[in-house]
Amino acid sequence: MYYDYIQISKINDFVFCPFSLYFHSIYESFDGSRYKAAPQVAGKLAHTSIENKEYSTSTRYLQGLEVFSEKYGIIGKIDIYDKKNKILIERKKKIKKIYDGYIYQLFAQKLCLEEMGWQVKKMALYSMDDNKKYPVKITVKQKKKFFQIIDNIKTFDFSCVKTINKAKCASCIYRELCRP
Ligand code: SF4
Repeated sequence: MYYDYIQISKINDFVFCPFSLYFHSIYESFDGSRYKAAPQVAGKLAHTSIENKEYSTSTRYLQGLEVFSEKYGIIGKIDIYDKKNKILIERKKKIKKIYDGYIYQLFAQKLCLEEMGWQVKKMALYSMDDNKKYPVKITVKQKKKFFQIIDNIKTFDFSCVKTINKAKCASCIYRELCRP
C-alpha cells in the first residue's frame, strides 16, 4: 500500500525535467501569476469552468472529480467523464501537438477511475480554442514508459541528475529560479 500518492498533474513536470517538479511543488501554494508564463495561466483558466462545474448540469457527466489509485499510488482530478459513453475527456486551451504527457495524464486518470469502479472505454483530448476533439489511445510502449516514470518518481534522487537539457531550460518557466 502507498501512503505518499503521486499527483497526476506532476507526472508531466517530471517528464519535462525532474527539477521543474521540485519548483512546481515549492511554488504551487503561492499566487500563480507571480511565476507562471502566460500560456500556462490561460491553460489554467480553461479548467476553471470544469472546477466550477460549468460544463453541464447533467448527471451524465462527472466533472472535476477527485480520483486516486491505491494500487499505483497516484491521485488527481479528472476533467470530464461521460458516464453514458464511458469516455474520459481532458480539456486543454489549445492543442497544437499531442504530447506523451497528455496521454500519460489521461491514462493515469483512467487507472484511478477504473479502480474506483468506473469503466473507461475511450479517452479523448479536447482543444477549446479551435473546438477540436482528439481520440487518445495509449500504445503498449507508452504504457511501459508510463509505469517506468511512476517508478522513477518514487525512487528519484536529485543528486544523480548529471545532464541538463539546455533547450528545455531556455523555454522553462523556472529558468530564473533554477541553478541546477
Ligand atoms: S531551468 Fe532547466 S533544469 Fe531548471 S527546472 Fe527548468 S528545465 Fe529543469
